Amino acid sequence: SRVKEVEFVKSSGRARDCPKDNKPEFAILGRSNVGKSSLINALVRKKEVALTSKKPGKTQLINHFLVNKSWYIVDLPGYGFAKASETARMDWSSFTKGYFMNRDTLVAVLLLIDASVPPQKIDLDCANWLGRNNIPMTFVFTKCDKMKVSKGKRPDENIREFQQLIRQNYKVHPSWIMTSSVTGLGRDELLLHMSQLRNY
Ligand code: GDP
Repeated sequence: SRVKEVEFVKSSGRARDCPKDNKPEFAILGRSNVGKSSLINALVRKKEVALTSKKPGKTQLINHFLVNKSWYIVDLPGYGFAKASETARMDWSSFTKGYFMNRDTLVAVLLLIDASVPPQKIDLDCANWLGRNNIPMTFVFTKCDKMKVSKGKRPDENIREFQQLIRQNYKVHPSWIMTSSVTGLGRDELLLHMSQLRNY
């Protein structure tokens, strides 16, 4: 499960514009500021890679990164901008849903969830939507290195609450991994997990 080589392939505006070479892929999804770019950078250990997707105009696109010439990491637009208009949010959902429903090579969605804050409705909604549509997912909890903020709960407590809320209306239990882009926690576990899913 080593990452030897990473190459930015393309940005696509629609699912049908995505690469057509049938390589397996993992889509990385989460609220803006969840730590998506940091996690992608930590995974591939290259600062410049995920930064590409932060360039103006590229944030609303599906960005494909080819790893070891054999599988893709796909950076999807973040959701839940507090200031986004209703129209912008609708655009996000139809655009991203189009990708999920039409991408046969999708192995699993890595749903990033910030473990330093209590469960957020938008993340629960997203997990439930993916679950209802039978899209395989793994919960990747980010920022697990963060100590509790004043009055807040610890990452492990937030994670337990999130899992409990998911179990209330969702029958299967997705795999989950605790990560930190600061300490490197979970990096190897996540890479191993992805290699197991690819070979499944
Ligand atoms: P994105 O908007 O989801 O791509 O999020 P970024 O990767 O840009 O990270 C958002 C903020 O969270 C930045 O200030 C990061 O430094 C911080 N951050 C990201 N990952 C971690 C982490 O694992 N631990 C801590 N403590 N902070 C993180």
